[in-house]
Amino acid sequence: MSAADYDILVIGGGIQGAGVAQAGAAAGYRVLLLEKQAIASATSSRSSKLIHGGLRYLESAQFGLVRKALRERAILLRIAPELVRPVAFHIPVYKNSSRKSWKIWLGLSMYALLGELKSGACFKYFSKAQWPSRDGLNTEGLRAIYQYWDAQTDDAALTRAVMHSAIELGAELDCPAEAVSASYTDKLHQVRYRNRNGEKQITSHALVNAAGPWVNQVLEKIAPRSPRLEIELVQGAHLLLDAPAPSAIYYVEAPLDKRAVFIMPWQGKTLIGTTETRFEGEPDTVSPTEDEVRYLQSIYRYYFPKRPADIIDSFAGVRVLAKAEGSFFSRPRDTILHMSSPALLSLYGGKLTGYRATAEQVIAMLRPCLPGRTPKADTAKLMLHPQRD
Ligand SMILES: Cc1cc2nc3c(=O)[nH]c(=O)nc-3n(C[C@H](O)[C@H](O)[C@H](O)COP(=O)(O)OP(=O)(O)OC[C@H]3O[C@@H](n4cnc5c(N)ncnc54)[C@H](O)[C@@H]3O)c2cc1C
Repeated sequence: MSAADYDILVIGGGIQGAGVAQAGAAAGYRVLLLEKQAIASATSSRSSKLIHGGLRYLESAQFGLVRKALRERAILLRIAPELVRPVAFHIPVYKNSSRKSWKIWLGLSMYALLGELKSGACFKYFSKAQWPSRDGLNTEGLRAIYQYWDAQTDDAALTRAVMHSAIELGAELDCPAEAVSASYTDKLHQVRYRNRNGEKQITSHALVNAAGPWVNQVLEKIAPRSPRLEIELVQGAHLLLDAPAPSAIYYVEAPLDKRAVFIMPWQGKTLIGTTETRFEGEPDTVSPTEDEVRYLQSIYRYYFPKRPADIIDSFAGVRVLAKAEGSFFSRPRDTILHMSSPALLSLYGGKLTGYRATAEQVIAMLRPCLPGRTPKADTAKLMLHPQRD
């Protein structure tokens, strides 16, 4: 194998890129990650901040995704206790809810089974006597409230912690540094990138495109041209409200279109999200639309009519979904790993929660194109700690 500056070059410093850098370095490879803005500056700081199996994915029969995510949730609760915390979820069921009480019971039972009935997998039903204390939740037509457990994180802090762990294992980070072009000659990727000092060129055995919503834009810069997945970009908005944090995450049904929406505690206030709106612009410019703001406000006022609802902040992120028929809500959410020869792997979509398992899969797929190295650590056992911005 010819000599290269690096074994793996990762483009993109969101959770997926940071995860691949960490898994690559843990497997003993020489890794360089390029990030054009700042670590976690895009989608990975604009999520709903949940580390969860994704109860709602059971509705679209994504059992494999849920099982894998629940396993990863258990690992993250163990290795990142300062960053990933268990949190109670409340599901109120009303007379006119489309998801009836038996369906929620069934869904939660399956969720507990897929979570291997470990601690935190249990769920319960609140008696009517406990309702009035539930954060001012609208009780008109209320039939039942279920409680189960999932986890919450600070998505940007988690991403920075994973990147820090990668660096401790020997990975290098260049940021801000934008990948400009790449070509493949003599069995090596020659990558040109631009940082504060001008343009640079380096070589690597493998190239990982973890550019999130820019994934296909990055593929266009790489020669030889390889087929790309047809995707749709779908934005999701959140509003931060000047209302005290609720005691749990409320998992409610939007009265208008029956989508599941979360009303969550966040930094002492109330966060509500999210939406699914087709996005066609440049991902850097994404922000909540007026329709999204109205939609989320109306859901909040419906469920918590007596709580303050002034908006103090709002943000939006862009999901990458494979192009398909049907509503955005029911589309598969698992990461798609798209390998183009030679040794070029692009990551499409996926969840924050599953970043570690995805990264391990990426390294396993690239291994045949990489030189032999001695592993240094196991990412399922490496502790993650909060880092400063
Ligand atoms: C609204 C919303 C809510 C979500 N909620 C959850 C949730 O609660 N739980 C969960 O598990 N998942 C959730 N997700 C999914 C999760 O947030 C994403 O899957 C994840 O953050 C994507 O990370 P990424 O690294 O692929 O992309 P990004 O975080 O977008 O990172 C891509 C990076 O690539 C960089 N880049 C692009 N081009 C270049 C270039 N040429 N050179 C160098 N760098 C470049 C960008 O600057 C960016 O930082 C949510 C997603 C959305 C949109």
